[in-house]
Amino acid sequence: MAHIEVILPIFNEVKNIPNLIARLDQVKKELSPSATLSYLFINDGSSDGSTELLSQLHSSRNDIRVVHLLHNFGHGPALACGVSHFRGDLAVFMDADLQDPPEAIPEMFLAWKNGSKTVVAERVSRSESNKVLFNTFYYLLHKVAPQLPPVNFGTHCLLDASVIQRIKTLKEKNRYFPGLVGFASPKIEAIPVHRLKRLEGNSRVGLKGLIQLAITAFLSFSSLPVRMVSVMGLIASLAALISGTAIVSIKLFTDLAIPGWASTMSALAFGSGIQLLCLGIIGEYIARIYDEVKERPLYLVEKVLETSAPHSLSMEESSFVPKIVRI
Ligand code: UDP
Ligand code: MG
Repeated sequence: MAHIEVILPIFNEVKNIPNLIARLDQVKKELSPSATLSYLFINDGSSDGSTELLSQLHSSRNDIRVVHLLHNFGHGPALACGVSHFRGDLAVFMDADLQDPPEAIPEMFLAWKNGSKTVVAERVSRSESNKVLFNTFYYLLHKVAPQLPPVNFGTHCLLDASVIQRIKTLKEKNRYFPGLVGFASPKIEAIPVHRLKRLEGNSRVGLKGLIQLAITAFLSFSSLPVRMVSVMGLIASLAALISGTAIVSIKLFTDLAIPGWASTMSALAFGSGIQLLCLGIIGEYIARIYDEVKERPLYLVEKVLETSAPHSLSMEESSFVPKIVRI
């Protein structure tokens, strides 16, 4: 019998947790006796009552583990914490707002039983409003990073313990989770799902967070942005050379007056714009290099609520996180 641990990052999801558990419990029944299901909640500094609810649930059930983080670190670090604390034969990662349907798990499990080590929920359709934005992002990303699997997926996936083991060795700080999954998997099987609307509340990641994630995806899986800087520099230099030659020729060989101020100013403004854009792109790289060299942990654990299961936390975790208080 295989043991599946469902890893759920939580940031202020008190209204979604009861529904989430009810739907996961249904799946658990459906999978029995071929698989057992337990839940690992990563509480990413919630302040809406989720912390108390998760602690209550932990004390009333024996299939729930909770890692309470010290404060809010973000979705990516919460997933990284799930990777470090995972225990089982296979892990299912999913968001807690029920945008990822728990009902896809049995099909994913079947694919695993048939030999797939990485099974992802491919978002073939969406109920969200910003569809065009998402589709453009995936289109561009798969164009510039051909090493990534051309599958439109986010968090929702089932990973064999061997894949998790490989992801644990990837220590980068700016993490694009689907990219890391692709990097650590020899092959990916995709199950089609419809991406639903968030059940309760508004997006916790938000548009700003999504834009940051998109930048991380491009910068960590493609060198195109920094190459663009050189290409833009080249284009601007060529344009300056051509217009310079034209101006000098007009001055030397004709009696025409060179029309002045407006064209000079617009050329200057254009040039400064390009320079600032290039500085911005290089700045993004420098900020990320700084993040990496700081060697600050991605997250800090406040406490871990274990089940009475016989295994203990992996040793790797204790070297990564400065302080763990077990109760
Ligand atoms: N989340 C988290 N930390 C954060 C933001 C979000 O753990 O700082 C969790 C959140 O509770 C949810 C999942 O990550 O379970 C995805 O968040 P959200 O639904 O806001 O992302 P979106 O679907 O809008 O991209
Ligand atoms: Mg969501």
